[in-house]
Amino acid sequence: MHKKAKKARKKIAEERIKKLFTEAERRAKEGRLGLSNRYVEIARKISMKYLVRIPKDAKMRFCRKCGSYLVPGKNCRVRLQKHKVVVTCLNCGNVRRYPYIREIKERRKV
Ligand SMILES: [Zn+2]
Repeated sequence: MHKKAKKARKKIAEERIKKLFTEAERRAKEGRLGLSNRYVEIARKISMKYLVRIPKDAKMRFCRKCGSYLVPGKNCRVRLQKHKVVVTCLNCGNVRRYPYIREIKERRKV
């Protein structure tokens, strides 16, 4: 029973994180990046408290170092290198590289 309750709580936490990122995206589109950053901060706190992962696509949307919600062309720069997506946070200068092998595979399937 206890285990089940824990699982349910994690599920709720995951849903909240997803919602926060949806909300952050909406605010960013409205040009209210300050609010987006707040949502990222809350989402990260929930993720740490309940030990749930932030979804992969959401992970790419913020800077791990300073926690800024990243908007390409606004506060981050996105470049494609060999098999990698290079994201530079223009707020703190942090650079992250993501492989995009998965996307390539998906494209091949089509
Ligand atoms: Zn940063």
